[in-house]
Amino acid sequence: MRQWNAWGHEGEDFPATEQAQTYLREHLGPAQALPDATLQQALAAVPASRLQARQGWSIDPELRLRHARGQSLPDWLALRSGHLQHYPDAVAQPSSREEVRALLDAARQLQVTVIPYGGGTSVVGHINPLPGDRPVLTLSLQRMNRLLSLDPVAQIAHFGAGTPGPEVEAQLRQHGFLLGHFPQSYELSTVGGWVASRSSGQQSMRYGRIEQLFAGGHVETLSGSWDIPALPASSAGPDLREMLLGSEGRFGVITDVALRVSRLPEQERFHVAFVPDAARALACVRELVQQRTPLSMLRLSLPEETRAHLILAGHARAVAWLERYLRLRGIGAGKCMLTFGLTGSRAEVATLRARLRRVLAAHGGVDTGSMLGQRWQAVRFRSPYLRESLWRLGYAVDTLETAVDWSRLPQTVEAIETSLRQGLADEGERVLAFSHLSHMYGEGSSIYTTYFYRCADSYERTQARWQKLKKRASEAIVAHAATISHQHGVGIDHAPYLQAEKGVAGLRAIHALCQHFDPQGLLNPGKLLELDQDHQGA
Ligand SMILES: Cc1cc2nc3c(=O)[nH]c(=O)nc-3n(C[C@H](O)[C@H](O)[C@H](O)COP(=O)(O)OP(=O)(O)OC[C@H]3O[C@@H](n4cnc5c(N)ncnc54)[C@H](O)[C@@H]3O)c2cc1C
Repeated sequence: MRQWNAWGHEGEDFPATEQAQTYLREHLGPAQALPDATLQQALAAVPASRLQARQGWSIDPELRLRHARGQSLPDWLALRSGHLQHYPDAVAQPSSREEVRALLDAARQLQVTVIPYGGGTSVVGHINPLPGDRPVLTLSLQRMNRLLSLDPVAQIAHFGAGTPGPEVEAQLRQHGFLLGHFPQSYELSTVGGWVASRSSGQQSMRYGRIEQLFAGGHVETLSGSWDIPALPASSAGPDLREMLLGSEGRFGVITDVALRVSRLPEQERFHVAFVPDAARALACVRELVQQRTPLSMLRLSLPEETRAHLILAGHARAVAWLERYLRLRGIGAGKCMLTFGLTGSRAEVATLRARLRRVLAAHGGVDTGSMLGQRWQAVRFRSPYLRESLWRLGYAVDTLETAVDWSRLPQTVEAIETSLRQGLADEGERVLAFSHLSHMYGEGSSIYTTYFYRCADSYERTQARWQKLKKRASEAIVAHAATISHQHGVGIDHAPYLQAEKGVAGLRAIHALCQHFDPQGLLNPGKLLELDQDHQGA
C-alpha cells in the first residue's frame, strides 16, 4: 500500500546511519522533529465535496486526500501537518479512452477543473488543486497501466498512460526489450507523467530523455481527440510531439503513449572512479561527452557531495581503506566521485572500460571497479525513502536542478550553493548543500543540488524557511541564465521564473496553445503559467 503522507510504499525504509546522523548534527546542529498528523486527523480536515457522487468518480474523503498533493517539500510539509488547504472534490479512475472522453465532457458541462494525475510524484506542485470557485476533479490514469501493443520489428511499444516504471520494464522484459527510462521516481511515476513533465532518466545518455523515447500517442482534449502518429522522422512542419512534451496537463489527457524501445543489453555494469579535483573532473567528463563516448550513465559528484556520500554510505572501515588507497594514487581531500554505466555487448563493455580508463588516467583519475557502483545500483531508487528517516530526526531535505553550458557551470554551482548556505543566515541557521552533475551534453550539463536544513518549531516556519531558500536559489539560477528546470518541470513552483527563459512572446504562444485546446481554462489552470498570466493572456 502506498503511504499517504510520504514517499513510496508502507514498510519500506532507508534508515539514516549513525555516521549520517553525526554528519548532520555537526553541520546543522541537533534538531527536533515536528509532530505528524495521523491519517484520522488529516481525514477530519477534508471538507465536504462540492460535487455529487456519480458514476465515473468518487468523492470518498480518503481518496481525495491521497490525491491532493505531490512529493515536493511543501507538499510533504502539508501532508505531515495534515493541513492541506485544498483538495480535489472528486477523483476519477477511468480505464479506457472512452471513459476519459466522457469525464472531459462531463467536466465541460459542469464547469469543473480537471487535473490529470499520473503517479503524483511531481516535485513542483503540478497536481495540487488551487483555490477557486470551480470544483476540482482529479483524473487518475492509474487503471490504464498496460502494454497495449509491441511492434518488435519497428521497436515501438504502446502503453496505457498510467503505466508506472516497474510495470513498463517488467512487461517489455517478457519480450526481450526495455525502455531504459529510469527517473529516480521510477517506482511510482508513469509514462503519461514523464511525457507531460518532460522527464529525464538516469540512463538518458544511452536511451535518451523522454523527448527521444516518446514517438507519438493519443490525447483527449476539451476540443476533441488528438492522435500523434509514431513516425521514424518527419519534416512535415512543426513537431506536434514537442508541443505535447512538457504541457503539464494543460492541453488534454494523454491516454496512451508510443515509446521507442531497445533490445535488452547483454551486459550492464556500474563503476565508480575518483578524480583529484573538480577542475580535472569537469575536464574529464567534458572530454567523455564531447567525444560521444557511449556510456549509459555518467554522474559527477562535486567535492562536497563526494565527501557526503562517502560518509553517508556508513561503511567507515571500507571507506577509510579506500581513501588510503586513493591518497597513494595522489587523490586526496578535494576529490570528485564519478559513477558511470557501461552497457552493451560484452565486447562493447570491455572496449568502453579500456577507453574510459585511458581518459581517466589522462586527468589523474582512478577507476575503483564495480563495488561502489553495485552499491549505487542497489539504492538507486531507494534513496527517496531517506527523507522520512531524516524527517524523524528533525531535518528537512529538498533538491533542485537546472542546466547550463560548461563555461558558466562552475559559477552557477557556486551561486546556487551559496544562496542556499547563506539563505537562513538571518535566523542564525545553517544549510548544508552539495551538488552533482547527472545529465551531460556536448554544450553543458544539468546541476542537481541537495540541501538540508533544520525544521523550525512549527510547520509554518519550516515552510517559510523552504520558501526563502527556494526563492534565493531560483533567483541565482535565473541570474546565471540557466534553465529553471532541467527535468522536474514548471508546475507552480517554477512558474514565476518561466518568463526569464521563454520571453514574453514565448509565454504568449504557450498561453495561446492552452486556449486552443481548452478555451474555458478547465485543465490544470495555474500550472506552467501562473493564474494571473492565465487570466491576462500571459
Ligand atoms: C523522489 C523523486 C525523484 C524524482 N526523480 C526524477 C528524475 O530522476 N527525473 C525526472 O525527470 N523527474 C524526477 N522526479 C519528478 C517526477 O517524478 C517527474 O516529474 C515525473 O515525470 C512525474 O510523473 P508522474 O506520473 O508522477 O506525474 P504526476 O506527478 O502525476 O503529474 C505531473 C504532471 O503531468 C501531468 N500528467 C500526468 N499524467 C498525465 C496524462 N496522462 N495526461 C496529461 N497530463 C498528465 C499532470 O497533470 C502534471 O501536470 C522525481 C520525483 C521524486 C518525488
